[in-house]
Amino acid sequence: MIRSLSGFLASAALILATPIAAQTPQSPAARITALVGGNVIDIDKGGALENATVLIEGEKIVKVGPSASVTVPEGATVVPMQGQWLIPGMMNMHTHLGLKLPGATGNSLADESDAAQALRMADNGRRTLQAGVTTVRLTHEDHGNDFALKAAIAAGQTLGPRIETAGEIIIPTGGHGFLEADGPYEFAKAARTQIKRGATWIKIAISGGISDTHGSISAAPMTDEELSTLIEVAHRNGVKVTAHNGSTEAAQQALKFGIDCFEHGYHLNNDILRDMKAKGVWLVPTIVVTQPGAHEFYRKIGSPDWYMARVESTGKDHWAMLQSAIKLGVNIALGTDQFPFEPNGGTTATVAEAELYVQAGMTPLQALQAATIQPARMLGLDKAVGRIVAGQYADIVALPANPLKDISALRNLGFVMKGGLIVRADTQPALITH
Ligand SMILES: [Zn+2]
Repeated sequence: MIRSLSGFLASAALILATPIAAQTPQSPAARITALVGGNVIDIDKGGALENATVLIEGEKIVKVGPSASVTVPEGATVVPMQGQWLIPGMMNMHTHLGLKLPGATGNSLADESDAAQALRMADNGRRTLQAGVTTVRLTHEDHGNDFALKAAIAAGQTLGPRIETAGEIIIPTGGHGFLEADGPYEFAKAARTQIKRGATWIKIAISGGISDTHGSISAAPMTDEELSTLIEVAHRNGVKVTAHNGSTEAAQQALKFGIDCFEHGYHLNNDILRDMKAKGVWLVPTIVVTQPGAHEFYRKIGSPDWYMARVESTGKDHWAMLQSAIKLGVNIALGTDQFPFEPNGGTTATVAEAELYVQAGMTPLQALQAATIQPARMLGLDKAVGRIVAGQYADIVALPANPLKDISALRNLGFVMKGGLIVRADTQPALITH
């Protein structure tokens, strides 16, 4: 009662303050939506609560239970979900909304201004959300454009996923990236600068990358002092550090100094993977980038031959590494290093990544967890997102088949809600509330 009264007062105050608010029938806080009759997947244990009702008030889930026992309040927007399976919104932990790669498409963006890039990133953010990805971690964007986009999405000015971002990737001079630093104090300053701008992660490159024409992917060019100082500074600020890494030597060095996460892990051996498991270090595999499904993508963007050759040669090691990581029980959070919605093998890169996890040894439940609750844990946000339970943000995706039986059910997702707003409803577009 108190809640709905304060909601009413809030909307009354808004109407008085600004005539635009009068066009909105309900304030966001008062908006009640009921997803009725769907099967809600238990993301922790597997299985589903069948014929369930999920009640959403404002941005949050307030009740989940059997439809017979949940009363839908008068005035609520009712969304029939019979025959649908409800999962938490997917999370993609390695993407770049302003991505440019070597090749024709990348070349055409060589002179892109920051303003143009921010607009392109906003478009990619909208497409990401509509592909069922409600949270992303950005692992390098240019010139702070990511912080502007994150603020614009949070303010409701543009539609997109929740964003955690590392700002600009920090590298030793000549490394895989742009923001160069040398010596421990330059690394400390570079990390502090990103954190000051709003970075909630720090991303470094401790070895070369597939897309580099210089440097070796197996080198470890950072000194102990540089690496340990950077990690210490980030941790003192409560910020985790992740590394682009294809090198065993660099991985051992980073594990020694307390790194939190590795990206790709192309050539990580079993000793490293065991150490990661023991220390709870995360792996974000981005397996799609080196597997055959991505070839159509590389052709489309006009990738040069040398790049295709590097992808091919890295792909076999990458796949074997992923199989071992799954077998050894390393913490895995889904990431693609492509746009989350990028076409890949007849679906999106995000869904293709989850399918590849199952092919590499995960159960469908584990793959689903790698796309939802595991990233939430990695981000330290698992009290807020990652499950369909009361108290969490209403980030929900609906599928017409059970993904615990076949992970490819993700291919046919047709409904996406973020923070209680319906952003996609293929069969009932009139319900879209953004
Ligand atoms: Zn990347």
